[in-house]
Amino acid sequence: MFAERFVRARKASGLSMQALADQVGLSANAIKKYEHGDAMPSSSNLMKLAKALNVRSEYFFRPMKVEVQGIEYRKRASTPQKTLAKIHGDVLDQVERWYELLNFFPDSAKPIKEFMLPNELPALVDDYEDLEAIADTMRDYWGLGLNPIQDLVDTFESRGLMVILTHVDTDNKFDGLAGSIEDKPLIVISGSQNGDRQRFTLAHELGHLVLKGRLTDEMDEEKACNRFAGAFL
Ligand SMILES: [Zn+2]
Repeated sequence: MFAERFVRARKASGLSMQALADQVGLSANAIKKYEHGDAMPSSSNLMKLAKALNVRSEYFFRPMKVEVQGIEYRKRASTPQKTLAKIHGDVLDQVERWYELLNFFPDSAKPIKEFMLPNELPALVDDYEDLEAIADTMRDYWGLGLNPIQDLVDTFESRGLMVILTHVDTDNKFDGLAGSIEDKPLIVISGSQNGDRQRFTLAHELGHLVLKGRLTDEMDEEKACNRFAGAFL
């Protein structure tokens, strides 16, 4: 348990093994041993590590309530690897808390619906013009009527999409990501954007979930998701 959580906290901090070692006065090799589960830090080193990683020392020993390793994101070339690693750590923590919270709900009242797509969606999309109709189909399917959607996050969550707002400093190099955890769809958006941009990003990421596997090779997925988002909103 310790090793796994320690690795997670270190990656979320954005520190390399060497950088962390330097901060706490240990060798990079010692850090590596902790991460591989080959050694445990002394309690005084544990406290230094917790401080350097900005977590409470109990963090390292909190049992994992759910397997949250299976998050897969679409690759995005413009977001630096290090930023993605930080986002990933934050997402894992938030998903874990989300599941912990869910445990308080009785089975009959769990606020999770299964995310579903309407059968009417075309199997193949080869024209950007078609995206307007697809967005309409989604709005119909979700019963959204013709007016602007008031609370988009709430609308998504009540249709089975987990939405995570990350406040990790991404230096404006990150808008959002769509992925899945344990087969449940997940959308991550940056909390530092203004409301309109967040709304667009949410709709764009929904586009990725809706259009997955449907676009022909000639279609640019980013462009298609933007068209979808514009029409959906
Ligand atoms: Zn995209």
